[in-house]
Amino acid sequence: MKILISADMEGATGVTWPADVLPGTPQWERCRGMFTSDVNAAVQGFFDGGADEVLVNEAHWTMRNLLLEQLDERVEMLTGRHKALSMVEGVQHGDVDGIAFIGYHAGAGMEGVLAHTYLANQITGVWIDDVRASEGLLNAHVVAEYGVPVVLVTGDDVACEDALGYAPEALKVAVKDHVSRYAAVCRTPARTAAAIRAAAKEAARLAVRHEPVEAGPFTVAVEFDAEHLAMAATVVPGVARVGERKVAYTSATMYEGIRTFKAVTTIASAAVEEQYG
Ligand SMILES: [Zn+2]
Repeated sequence: MKILISADMEGATGVTWPADVLPGTPQWERCRGMFTSDVNAAVQGFFDGGADEVLVNEAHWTMRNLLLEQLDERVEMLTGRHKALSMVEGVQHGDVDGIAFIGYHAGAGMEGVLAHTYLANQITGVWIDDVRASEGLLNAHVVAEYGVPVVLVTGDDVACEDALGYAPEALKVAVKDHVSRYAAVCRTPARTAAAIRAAAKEAARLAVRHEPVEAGPFTVAVEFDAEHLAMAATVVPGVARVGERKVAYTSATMYEGIRTFKAVTTIASAAVEEQYG
């Protein structure tokens, strides 16, 4: 049994504000330890549950946050940027039986600690076929096309609630309870690690590959906080303006959908001016 872990940081234990997840800050240095603790607990739980292989794919910011030297020695870790499937890279080779979303968070425009979808501020909402989407939902569609079930989700309580929509069967561990975008009631790493390890052990039972799901085509809409970002995004072929600050495109599969989404977010973020946005 092979498990893939997609590890994002905003939903990690103890994390509640931007500097906690911003590479290079002293706060980030401290929070890396708690992020690594969450991921390591999941790794150990999956091995407890019978996994033969666990691959961790870093999915936050520059994708260089986890402390490899503190992880269980049986694991392998994919670190760094530029990967065909981004946050769920590694799922496409036909050998993954289940995936865990560790440190996930609510989507842009939702309540939730550090809620956003890819861009921290400039995207105010993403919809897939009119359903408001988080990164969890986007990635769940991608992995379903490879027949890989989402078996475990960790994050704040809102991220866990969000996961009920895209992975009802998956085990969920809330490592903190949302109070506002920048505040949460947090539990200690020792306590969250124990909960994540136990849940991962149980989640290993759900790691059974199924037939690839062909749910497309998907219409993806992206709303920005400024009009010029929508205009900039329309240089991506197939992306059309559907509102003053909103664009949309249709993709046959979510494999294509997530790639177009990355192109849209890359171009939109390059169009942001420091002072006026
Ligand atoms: Zn994220």
